[in-house]
Amino acid sequence: MHQNIQRLSLIPIFLVAWLQLSSFTVTPSKISFHEAAAFYTFGDTVSFRVTCESENPITEALLFVAIAGQSTRVIPVTPNSTGALQYDLDASSDPIRPFAEVRYWYQIKDGKGEEGRSREYSFVYTDNRFSWSSHKDEQFEIYWSTTDARIGRQILAIARRSLQNALKYYPAATTEAIKIYIYENTDDLRLALAPGQHTWTVGHASPEDATILIVLADGMKTKAEVERLLPHEITHILQAAYSRDNFSSLPAWLVEGSASVAELRPDPERRAVLQSAAAANALIPIEELCTSFPNDDAAAYLAYAESESFVQFLVREYGADSLVRLTEQSSPERTCQEAFYTTYKQSLPEIEAEWQKQVVGVSSANNPAGDMTALAALLVLLILAPLAPALAIAIQTRRGK
Ligand SMILES: [Zn+2]
Repeated sequence: MHQNIQRLSLIPIFLVAWLQLSSFTVTPSKISFHEAAAFYTFGDTVSFRVTCESENPITEALLFVAIAGQSTRVIPVTPNSTGALQYDLDASSDPIRPFAEVRYWYQIKDGKGEEGRSREYSFVYTDNRFSWSSHKDEQFEIYWSTTDARIGRQILAIARRSLQNALKYYPAATTEAIKIYIYENTDDLRLALAPGQHTWTVGHASPEDATILIVLADGMKTKAEVERLLPHEITHILQAAYSRDNFSSLPAWLVEGSASVAELRPDPERRAVLQSAAAANALIPIEELCTSFPNDDAAAYLAYAESESFVQFLVREYGADSLVRLTEQSSPERTCQEAFYTTYKQSLPEIEAEWQKQVVGVSSANNPAGDMTALAALLVLLILAPLAPALAIAIQTRRGK
């Protein structure tokens, strides 16, 4: 297997991601485009520039910016007297997903109604605050910014094992190499992602770009963390490969539950959290975890614990392939409950009750925690709150934000 360690040449910060110097004329239009280029400072400003030639003065110019999974931005641009167009996109208020491919093109109209459209240009919105080293094989591209050259090889080995585990649940063949970017601390990762991330986020997947971002704060001392993070995030990439455009329609509990089940080294705290919540009669109904997870850290942690356990139960009772079937049944036209019933021939609450009885030890007819007060349930959540920072994966991950 061909492997290659290479040090990328320094990408000058604040400099060009892509420079397209070709010109293109759309026939029969007499309008042409030259020297299209995009320059950016990651997380700040992306400048789009092009020069237009037209026999008549340009009266209208539009810039189109397209990123997979987002609506295409259509931006009016005012040309200067020489026909040059420039637009500065404020990526701090209108964030671009890190490492996303940005495609863009121009459309202009002159005073005589002549229209012209440029060819399509593109660049990858790399986090150019850092200089990335890389290590690759056919399935993975590992990027890191520290000087420790061993990291790439070590992470690649874990990534391969992670993929094998994730394939047990989603046996999808990915069409492109999965790119893994390793950040040194949570602040660097958080600044790379859109605002609103939890401060404890240490992993993020962008299925649209087959890209995973993780934090490796103490080098390979945190190997156990990587063995949890990587299979989890790789599973998200495979889920997206199966669900294609319906990824956002998948039940949140399925997305996070199956990713958690695939972890090589699951978080042992989740089991304790689940049992405590069950004893306090404070389990969140699975139906409430169809569209999203709670924002509250402790409740989100419980949501992960429940989803992992419930998916484990589905795999045990109905087979791992039932997860793929449910994934394929999920669509914007179907509710979570409908997709579930079509897959399992029983309702979600019915199978949930069976899971509670068999795994969590809760019987709906004779709930052992039934006499606990709501205050006690609240106390359990408060006790669990300090565990929340250990929660690695933001639910936002699955939306590719
Ligand atoms: Zn996740």
